[in-house]
Amino acid sequence: MMFSYITILASVIPLSAAAAASANIKGLLQDRSNKWSANTTVYFPGDAEFSNETLRWNEYSAPTFAAVVRPGSEQDVQKVVKLSISNNISFLATGGRHGYGTQFGKLQNGLEIDMSAFDMVQVDKNSSMMTVGGAVHFGDIVDPLYAAGKEIQTGSATCVGLVGATLGGGIGRYQGLHGLILDALVSLRIVTAKGDIVTVSNSSHPDLFWAMRGAGTNFGVILSATYRVHDLTNGGQVMNADMIFPGTANVSFLDIVQSMQDKIPKELSLIASMAYNSTSKMSEIIANLVYVGPEDAGREAIKPFLDLKPTVHEISMLPWNQLNSKAAFGATALECEKGGQHSMFGVNVRNVSASTYVDVFEKLDDFWNSNPAAQGSSFSLEFFSNSAMEAVPDDATAYPWRDTKAYLMLQMTWSNASAAESANAVAEELRSELVKSSGYPYHSVYVSYAHGDEPLESKFGASKLPRLAAMKKEWDPDNVFAYGAALPMKYP
Ligand SMILES: Cc1cc2nc3c(=O)[nH]c(=O)nc-3n(C[C@H](O)[C@H](O)[C@H](O)COP(=O)(O)OP(=O)(O)OC[C@H]3O[C@@H](n4cnc5c(N)ncnc54)[C@H](O)[C@@H]3O)c2cc1C
Repeated sequence: MMFSYITILASVIPLSAAAAASANIKGLLQDRSNKWSANTTVYFPGDAEFSNETLRWNEYSAPTFAAVVRPGSEQDVQKVVKLSISNNISFLATGGRHGYGTQFGKLQNGLEIDMSAFDMVQVDKNSSMMTVGGAVHFGDIVDPLYAAGKEIQTGSATCVGLVGATLGGGIGRYQGLHGLILDALVSLRIVTAKGDIVTVSNSSHPDLFWAMRGAGTNFGVILSATYRVHDLTNGGQVMNADMIFPGTANVSFLDIVQSMQDKIPKELSLIASMAYNSTSKMSEIIANLVYVGPEDAGREAIKPFLDLKPTVHEISMLPWNQLNSKAAFGATALECEKGGQHSMFGVNVRNVSASTYVDVFEKLDDFWNSNPAAQGSSFSLEFFSNSAMEAVPDDATAYPWRDTKAYLMLQMTWSNASAAESANAVAEELRSELVKSSGYPYHSVYVSYAHGDEPLESKFGASKLPRLAAMKKEWDPDNVFAYGAALPMKYP
């Protein structure tokens, strides 16, 4: 089954009423009758803080802003949403600024609603609940949870917005034990497209709660989110194993991954990156394996990889709250650097195909050798047990890919803009190859890992789209929440 990819061109957006209104944005925001609360800040281009305020992880096809409002109260979020809508100003609410799809570039000269003042983390040990503000990062929650003897499934980089990740799914190392991050979600407090504050949960607007768990960037600004958390597994001690293999080990390495696809223990996760080492001038595989349990069981689980004799390996037991900052040789520090050029092409697979990945690796190796400016590009694989995710009925949430076994990502980057075209061209070709062996009838991708050009079905699943479109029409009929992965009003 084939659906068409979409060309994203910021320039095809005409100087619409929305863009014209943006020109007037400064006057509107500075109008004294707004009566912003003392904690609310407004920035414009030229202000010292503006560039830093708007800097995103990905500057490729990034949105641009004519102003930033950082609301300091819930009422000011309501006020800025209403003001934007009544004046036809296009806006984007931001949490961690790590969203990277090319669709963000469609927003030019808009308004950023920077939610970073919503940074509280409250853990209720007795009820095993955590409530966080709309801009809290993965890295902000681990210490308060650990201190309370609790854990939650998170993603791997400390700087990513927890709410931003939850809205699309939320995948990561504890997924085998606890499922997607959105499976932990209990309720959201949001400002809707009408400017109302609404609580969304299984008992309050359950249809909207269903839709927001998978397509959540379409319906509101999230003020806070409440999650169910878990007691610490293994007393909070987790085994972290970091390894490096030469690129020449790719066949054996990927064969092991394929052989584990139906039996990866729920406690084990693998995140591997196939990359070019600019010092050795050779390709290599950097693998991070995490086992949530005692070291002897962990060593047994990763034995096939150890038997491959990595050139470097470091194994240690860590407290859970240090895992994300230390795993993969501390890669999060580098991963979190903002302002880079990244063109990301994700593919979900329910069939792990070692031979395809070897072929992709080899083609990428040729690409690295002929394109020095794009040698920072990589091919990564995230592999978790899907048993906890599959234990949740498919119709319980809008998230469409509960049978996914691994998440593949071609992460293209360049130091010179002249390499962008060839990097994107090779990634498109390799993505098609990965899709063919994915085991899905059409390209399926975790919406937060999408490039931005995929058909709607690839991001939301054909079976979910009729209900999602109906929810979009009911809750956001004017499509004001349009710049994440946007839903249609009607499907088919
Ligand atoms: C380095 C890196 C590592 C990553 N690792 C993981 C991972 O391990 N697991 C995983 O699942 N994902 C991961 N992601 C993907 C990540 O989940 C998405 O990019 C996510 O959308 C980022 O959210 P954010 O708040 O940081 O970004 P933003 O750009 O601020 O927001 C992204 C989208 O979410 C919306 N949004 C964010 N906060 C709010 C809010 N309070 N109210 C309304 N809308 C909001 C925005 O409007 C936008 O549409 C990673 C991304 C990067 C760049």
